[in-house]
Amino acid sequence: MAEETIFSKIIRKEIPADIVYQDDLVTAFRDISPQAPHHLLVIPNILIATMNDVSEDDERYLGRMMRVAADLAKQEGIAEDGYRLIVNCNAHGGQEVYHIHLHLVGGKPLGPMLS
Ligand code: 5GP
Repeated sequence: MAEETIFSKIIRKEIPADIVYQDDLVTAFRDISPQAPHHLLVIPNILIATMNDVSEDDERYLGRMMRVAADLAKQEGIAEDGYRLIVNCNAHGGQEVYHIHLHLVGGKPLGPMLS
């Protein structure tokens, strides 16, 4: 069983975060250390540690994460110019918080994906 991270506390509003959206399946909030003018994180309300742990039962969470990210890109005013969605997995992927999260990054040209 994976251990809870700080993101579980954000979902339960036990610690402060700039939450921009929450429903029964997902929560979205601003990254504390933004890498671009717009940098949001969209997470499932249940603990899934990494992409390696995703099961068929989790598809509704992942689907909602993608749709909410697309809606938030429009809300942030970055949809037309474009943006990037990123999920990091484990050490080589650069994952630091072991509760899966979709990075929504935009607001400037982002350059080549793997730079
Ligand atoms: P990862 O490297 O795991 O894909 O990304 C984790 C992200 O979570 C980083 O961009 C980091 O800035 C963000 N982050 C870590 N702790 C917190 C926190 O307590 N609050 C918020 N809002 N973001 C956090």
